[in-house]
Amino acid sequence: MNGIALAPWACDPARSRGRRIPEAAAPPRTEHQRDRDRIVHSTAFRRLVYKTQVFINHEGDLFRTRLTHSLEVAQLARSAARALRLDEDLVEAIALAHDLGHTPFGHAGQDALHACMQDHGGFEHNLQSLRVVDALEVRYADFDGLNLSFEAREGILKHCSRRHAEKLCASEPDGPARRFIDGSQPSLEAQIVNLADEMAYNAHDIDDGVRSGLVTMAQLGDVPLFARFRDEALAAHPLLAQGGGRRLMYETIRRMLSTEVEDLVAATDRAVAAAAPVDADDLRRRPALARFSPALRDGIADLKRFLFAELYRHPQVMHTTAQARRIVAELFEAYVAQPGQMPAEHRTAVDRHRAVADYIAGMTDRFAQREHARLTGRDAFAA
Ligand code: MG
Repeated sequence: MNGIALAPWACDPARSRGRRIPEAAAPPRTEHQRDRDRIVHSTAFRRLVYKTQVFINHEGDLFRTRLTHSLEVAQLARSAARALRLDEDLVEAIALAHDLGHTPFGHAGQDALHACMQDHGGFEHNLQSLRVVDALEVRYADFDGLNLSFEAREGILKHCSRRHAEKLCASEPDGPARRFIDGSQPSLEAQIVNLADEMAYNAHDIDDGVRSGLVTMAQLGDVPLFARFRDEALAAHPLLAQGGGRRLMYETIRRMLSTEVEDLVAATDRAVAAAAPVDADDLRRRPALARFSPALRDGIADLKRFLFAELYRHPQVMHTTAQARRIVAELFEAYVAQPGQMPAEHRTAVDRHRAVADYIAGMTDRFAQREHARLTGRDAFAA
């Protein structure tokens, strides 16, 4: 651990609650290193490169995809975890796996699939991420899925409805869904990844938003958090006011991210010191301890509201998401009507609707688009 001992409330891999199917240890790797390594080698992880974050994959090569987003989340979360003496390997594993269950076309795809599955148990991407690592990956002789540690699975199941939690607990009473019934928290490692996720998308959506031309630096100047770091960057480098503004944007984002990580570490450190948990399980019974300072939290909330109104709801983004929703809905309809159009392993499932949802959820943007064109004879993005 880089010579630094883990905090008493960290998830020490030597004291892991273990895997669903027990496996012999594999020194010198720790259990959480093995989790991380299995995720990196999974098929679902490789597909993230062609899955949308905000912009559809074909809209440009420089926009974030789920893969680059996940790497940025891992970087931010590891920085904070190291300073907080948490298990960095676990943080990295959770960060790299947190979006594995995302459908093609980002939230538009997820909403469409959820609507299609309304009468068949619904579709939740967090639950799907767990399903990918628990069941859908096909790699190992002895088990389905990746057989990850409890701590990794707990972090991956970030949200879960009560209904699904009850269903999961019926087959695994002390599993990762339990906390959604008894109201406890996940590990501090998992809590840190959640906040790193937020930091990452706020920052990269500014970048992608400006790059796409859908939001401008002038508009961002009305967002206090952004204006604060832009002004700091300009005070240190007055020449950044000239030119196209890209360097100024990056200097601003860089300063914002550094301050957010420092603030997260300091505020979390204070909260943990005040709560004084004796170990990781004791910490799980406390209210969430990972946090920003109140001032920064409010600034981040403003920025999120701005991105929601100006970028995620931008008419151009809404137009492509409407097309994407149609692709997913029409694919669903086509496969349910003709399961023979799916590969053999998806055809034979007892629950046809779930099998179709799993198949579609696993698709990349471009594969979904090609399949849609093949089955309907139309290019949904042509209009
Ligand atoms: Mg994410």
